Amino acid sequence: MTEYISILTCPACRHQSAEIMRPDACLHVCECKGCGVLLRPKAGDCCVFCSYGSVPCPPVQEERGRR
Ligand SMILES: [Zn+2]
Repeated sequence: MTEYISILTCPACRHQSAEIMRPDACLHVCECKGCGVLLRPKAGDCCVFCSYGSVPCPPVQEERGRR
């Protein structure tokens, strides 16, 4: 089962927010609702969910599930 809701945790202020992920698009930039900082993916990650989310983005979930 693919999850479409990921809990993003801000690395700066630890604010958490549930974000709905699109199945077909990665989110590369997300503004923290707590402190306003712009979250960007860490090196090697395709989107902010892979870096800061409770679950990675749908394409990555599928990739991992297949192995
Ligand atoms: Zn923040």
